[in-house]
Amino acid sequence: MKILIAEDEPKTSAYLKRGMEENGFVVDLAGNGDDAIHLASNCSYDLIILDVMLPGRDGWTIISELRRREISTPTLFLTARDSVHDRVMGLELGADDYLVKPFAFSELLARMRSILRRGPPRPSLVLKLADLELDLIRHRAARSGHVLDLTPKEFQLLSLLLRRTGEVLSRTLIAESVWDINFESDSNVVDVHIRRLRSKVDDPFDPKLIHTVRGAGYVLEARA
Ligand code: CA
Repeated sequence: MKILIAEDEPKTSAYLKRGMEENGFVVDLAGNGDDAIHLASNCSYDLIILDVMLPGRDGWTIISELRRREISTPTLFLTARDSVHDRVMGLELGADDYLVKPFAFSELLARMRSILRRGPPRPSLVLKLADLELDLIRHRAARSGHVLDLTPKEFQLLSLLLRRTGEVLSRTLIAESVWDINFESDSNVVDVHIRRLRSKVDDPFDPKLIHTVRGAGYVLEARA
C-alpha cells in the first residue's frame, strides 16, 4: 500500500512517515500544495493524507484540482481545528474522512484502514441558487449557462457564500474561512474580493445575488 502524506510541518510528517512505514506502508512526502498535486497526478497512491493548511495551495484547492483531473484517490484530511464548515466542505469536495489535530496515531491508522477497505463512490456536487451553478468537483461556476472566470480565491469565496445561502456572513468569518487568517475588522481584503466577485457574478446578470448587510457582512440570496 502506497500513501502520499502532504504536510508542511517536518516533525509531524517525519513522525507520520515513520509510523506508517512501521505498519508496512510505503510513504511519499509532499511539503507543499504544488508538490502534492504533482505527486498525486504522476504516481499511483492507495491513499492521500492531506493537511488542510499547506503553503502554496490549501487542502481544498488541492482536492478540487485532483478531482478535476479525475484523480479519485481516497483522501483523508488533517486539520488544526474542528469546525463544522471545514468538515462539511471537506466531505463535499470529496474527502473520505477527516481528522482533527492533535490525534492519536492509532486513530489515524484505524481511519486509514477503514477508507482502504471501502470502495470509492464519489458523487459530483453542484450547488445552485437561481441561475447560478457551482460545480465543486470540476471547479466551475456559471450563471445562466455562462461560465464565470473566477480566481481560486473568488471560487472559494463564492462557494462559501453559496453553501450558506441566506446566512449573513461576517467579514471575520469570511476571512478565516477563505484565507485562514484573522483580519483586523477594518481590513478591506474581504470587501475588495467581494467587489471583484460581484463584477463577475452579479454585474452582467439579474437578479443580483450578493448583498451587503450594513455593519454585519455579506449574504448570498435571490431576493424577490
Ligand atoms: Ca499545515
